[in-house]
Amino acid sequence: MKYDMIVVGGRIGGSVSSLIASQNDLDVLMIEKRQEIGTPVQCAEGTTYQTFETLDMKPSKKYICSDIEGAMVHAPDGRSIDLFEYGLMLENFTNEKTKGCILDRKIFDKHLAIQSAKAGTEIMVKTTVKDLIIKDGRICGVVAKHLGKTMEIHSDIVIAADGVESNMTRLAGLDNPKNPKDICSCAQYELVGLDVDPHWLHFYFGREIAPGGYLWIFPKGKESVNLGLGIRSPENTAYHYLKKFTAKLDATPVELNIGGVPLSGPIDKTYTDGLLVVGDAAGQVDPITGGGIHITASCAKIAGEVAARAIKMEDTSAKTLQEYDILWRKEFEEGLKTSLKYRKAADKLSDKDMNALAEYFVTNHSENFSKLGAIKFLGKHPHLLKLIKEFL
Ligand SMILES: Cc1cc2nc3c(=O)[nH]c(=O)nc-3n(C[C@H](O)[C@H](O)[C@H](O)COP(=O)(O)OP(=O)(O)OC[C@H]3O[C@@H](n4cnc5c(N)ncnc54)[C@H](O)[C@@H]3O)c2cc1C
Repeated sequence: MKYDMIVVGGRIGGSVSSLIASQNDLDVLMIEKRQEIGTPVQCAEGTTYQTFETLDMKPSKKYICSDIEGAMVHAPDGRSIDLFEYGLMLENFTNEKTKGCILDRKIFDKHLAIQSAKAGTEIMVKTTVKDLIIKDGRICGVVAKHLGKTMEIHSDIVIAADGVESNMTRLAGLDNPKNPKDICSCAQYELVGLDVDPHWLHFYFGREIAPGGYLWIFPKGKESVNLGLGIRSPENTAYHYLKKFTAKLDATPVELNIGGVPLSGPIDKTYTDGLLVVGDAAGQVDPITGGGIHITASCAKIAGEVAARAIKMEDTSAKTLQEYDILWRKEFEEGLKTSLKYRKAADKLSDKDMNALAEYFVTNHSENFSKLGAIKFLGKHPHLLKLIKEFL
């Protein structure tokens, strides 16, 4: 068997890169180890309308559960900050292009795979890629296993879209540092019965709630919510904290998901001879929010376009494929680096600091966060001034 391009992984990164490559007349095979594309979900499913624009898709109620109109941040001491009321992130709530929504990823991911198949991509499900075929230092296919049968499948390019646990990057000899401190462990329930506004997000912070991360409540329409959390702490599991928080709620789970998010920023090199890396496998995730849907979709689109050009030029060498690395970094690298810097500074905030910051927001928003208010606040918390200097 021989294809122009093989894609390992069938969710957002895989489906988008294969869709774009197939639309550009490449022979594409996408391989997914799960029996069904889109499951299990392993995502809080929040994104913005920019994702649809990037993918040239008409937003549809088929896979959008909720439109987001506001968000509430809850400090460790219970103080709440209404971001909309305080004029923070207004752009995200009011601009048609950047406003947020909650997807149904089981439907969305499968919809992307269906579009890709309709454009000509062949798809193998319940098939695991075990190895890469490498000849003279160039990747030229994969070894895959389907229902006990092992097969070699050849291609001119392989796209590694195999997520946070990416084996493909390691097999390709690309540096993929997975420092456990930089992986956020997540656990999430889809809960029924929680009385929350179906258009509002909630974020909870604090060592007792989600050490080294945060807890989220994202509404999935009127009937259910994604309530999950991510932690970076060896003391207990994410599931432990999830059970602790939900024990006091009058709501019942209909789904439990466990997963990891890479928060260390992008890997150093996302291409080699015959291979490109996209999505979580490449660390294309915002290190502060853990959001990767939009970045993955955008980078996978670039990967599909670059792969198509390379095949047409009959040159899939690292030198040609480097164009992908240059293009996606041009669009996202600076933002990811800034986010990583913020995340490292935020790691140093204690619960007391977060409570103090929340108090500052609550008491100063009526004065439009005047300079005098800020000076008084930083005078009371000089170590935060040091931290702000680190940011800048
Ligand atoms: C709990 C949680 C909540 C999140 N919430 C959000 C959110 O609200 N908003 C947001 O923007 N982002 C969120 N993210 C991040 C987002 O889900 C990812 O960034 C995004 O799914 C990355 O897509 P991907 O295609 O690169 O990887 P994945 O979605 O991980 O897909 C990788 C696919 O590859 C397959 N695969 C792996 N190895 C092989 C193999 N050897 N052979 C064949 N197939 C293989 C897997 O089965 C999987 O289907 C969240 C992540 C988690 C874990």
